[in-house]
Amino acid sequence: MIALVTGASRGIGAAAAKRLAADGYTVIVHCNRNTKQAQAVADETGGIVMQADLADFAQIDKMVDAVIRQFGRIDVLVNNAGIALTGLFQDISDEDAVRLFTVDVGGTMHTAKRVLPYMLRAHQGSIVNVASVWGETGAACEVHYSAAKAAVIGFTKALAKETGLSGVRVNCVSPGVIDTDMNRMHGEETMQALAEETALGRIGTPEEVAEAIAFLASEKSGFITGQIIPVNGGFHI
Ligand code: NAD
Repeated sequence: MIALVTGASRGIGAAAAKRLAADGYTVIVHCNRNTKQAQAVADETGGIVMQADLADFAQIDKMVDAVIRQFGRIDVLVNNAGIALTGLFQDISDEDAVRLFTVDVGGTMHTAKRVLPYMLRAHQGSIVNVASVWGETGAACEVHYSAAKAAVIGFTKALAKETGLSGVRVNCVSPGVIDTDMNRMHGEETMQALAEETALGRIGTPEEVAEAIAFLASEKSGFITGQIIPVNGGFHI
């Protein structure tokens, strides 16, 4: 069984790659630039590294073609790669806004579009998209990110309806505040405040999100599609 995990050199993606490998998948560890870190994940998981900038759809095409040439199938796609932007809505440049939507929405949708034919042909497959609690509730000073993640949620629901009869399930995990590089821009005080806003009184770990991803990838969730599984410690209830 082959799993392609995007943005798997670090954070939630690396944890998902390791968790899926533990479930017996051969994992394609996708990365953007950090091939060294991705190779370390691949060495640990027995997988292989594929590099592509998801903002460039031609690079996605090349990556999926390369996976199919080598393995002939993709059983699980984890659309994890993403970028965030912080700042007042009106202060974000059009260029940055377009880049965020191109990676977070365009990259997610285009990778699914390219992988889907192989899943449809096999009459099985699981696509797990990584959204965000902000896509559910909206965050001040992260308006573009919130809108993009809301789009990922809408995409998940709609595609699930389109592919269900063909045996392909499409779901989302929606993390709350997780301890990864994406949150390094926040100071310790902000992280402490976010932990206090969380019912469980702490921020989450990448491994806790990976657990939900592995569940949605597996047949244990065989009757679940089109759903958004929050992994947020009660940050949003
Ligand atoms: P991260 O910054 O460590 O990981 C993001 C990954 O995406 C990196 O591996 C990066 O290389 C990759 N990436 C970024 N731009 C790319 C591009 N153009 N092409 C290819 N890959 C690219 O942060 P993370 O927290 O592990 O984020 C993983 C996912 O989880 C993201 O989609 C993020 O939006 C989502 N998320 C994170 C949190 C959190 O609190 N950390 C909360 C909710 C959702």
